[in-house]
Amino acid sequence: MKYISTRGSAPALTFEEAMLSGLARDGGLYVPESIPQMSAADIRALNGLPYEEIAFRVMRPFVGDTFSDETFADLIAKTYAGFGHNARAPLVQLAPNHFLLELFHGPTLAFKDFAMQLIGQLFEEALTRRGERVTIVGATSGDTGSAAIEAFRGLDAVDVFILFPHGRVSEVQRRQMTTPSEANVHALAMDGHFDDCQARLKDMFNDFDFRDEVRLAGVNSINWARVLAQVVYYFSSAVSLGAPDRKISFTVPTGNFGDIFAGYIAKRMGLPIDRLVVATNQNDILHRCLTSGDYHTSEVHPSISPSMDIQVSSNFERALFDAYGRDGKAVAQLMDELKSGGFKVSQGALQALAENFDSGRVSEEETLATIKSAHASMGELLCPHSAVGVKVAEAQRDPATPMITLATAHPAKFPDAVEKASGIRPGLPERMADLYDRPERVTRIENDLGALETLIRERLAN
Ligand SMILES: *Cc1c(COP(=O)(O)O)cnc(C)c1O
Repeated sequence: MKYISTRGSAPALTFEEAMLSGLARDGGLYVPESIPQMSAADIRALNGLPYEEIAFRVMRPFVGDTFSDETFADLIAKTYAGFGHNARAPLVQLAPNHFLLELFHGPTLAFKDFAMQLIGQLFEEALTRRGERVTIVGATSGDTGSAAIEAFRGLDAVDVFILFPHGRVSEVQRRQMTTPSEANVHALAMDGHFDDCQARLKDMFNDFDFRDEVRLAGVNSINWARVLAQVVYYFSSAVSLGAPDRKISFTVPTGNFGDIFAGYIAKRMGLPIDRLVVATNQNDILHRCLTSGDYHTSEVHPSISPSMDIQVSSNFERALFDAYGRDGKAVAQLMDELKSGGFKVSQGALQALAENFDSGRVSEEETLATIKSAHASMGELLCPHSAVGVKVAEAQRDPATPMITLATAHPAKFPDAVEKASGIRPGLPERMADLYDRPERVTRIENDLGALETLIRERLAN
């Protein structure tokens, strides 16, 4: 299995190489050269298996020679052992034919643990074998950073630096990043928005001297291994509702297009998914683009679902690559136009996108109202991101097709918004109840590439 860049001019890599490098050298994202297929019989055979076994069968063909069967199974077992629920990704019913996939039982209470815990295991195994060390730098709107720190803290082969927008993450998110005391963890509070953090991260990757000097590695949602880990729960949930003998739809609260793109991969592998619905908050560039073809960035408006406060949706490039018939040159040109504000998707590509994706947008008031009504009528306390999903799913679902909405975070990660909407302040699960008492450790830094690179060099020298 080889991986190719969405911009068409970087060398093809193995799974291991694509995982360790993150972004391709031509600025593109890695995608598999071809998509492994699962037959209806293969999919039917997943029914009733433990999550770890489903994960092995779904991901195995993508990994190639990087890990042996035995090692890979072992790493998957370690990945999910720390989750607070035996089903790992339990499904609960909200209404007739509407289900919620709870993806928040991992160590940092957001779905990003599914991928990040796996990446931690895969990196440590691959790097130890190679006798190498890397510097992981990530940008976060809150949940990626805490999940990465939790996955890499204390590992020998890795230093982890996380850039988050100062003052723009929730207190629980911040504390999850600033309270780990291991020397290989560095939490950096940067001036600006998440998009600024993401832009500086991209700058670092494009500074090849720096990139090689510190052995930069990326674990943002652009990393293919993360997308892959997220493909698994589309299979596990769909199968438990009757796939492959019945079509299932999904609604996914989306910012960076990572989670929903994993659903698209599941569909391309053969899972009979009817609709994949993108749910955005007021930062609705994806909804605008999917409905009009117009992808122009505007200002970020901070919302109560901050993990989706995004204007530049990195993984959307992967969807564009397929929509443009895998023409890397065309994608490279769009991304060039994006540097000066945006681009217009061609008619043909827009049609290809519409064949796979629907979309909806939810206002702040609607998000709060959905948290309130879901609690009143379904007894379910939703985090604001999950509420965005539920609202869009209710508006768009076909009653005859089971709809699964992804619940991306635990309500206790966003207690202020949940309390404002429902009157109930959700408590942290017992295993992290002392989070508010632990001392914090954080470095404030300006939005400046030179300052960041200097700081990282200094920390690595110590
Ligand atoms: C990251 C995140 C999202 C958005 O996921 P993408 O893969 O970036 O689309 C939604 N909800 C929560 C809680 C998140 O942490």
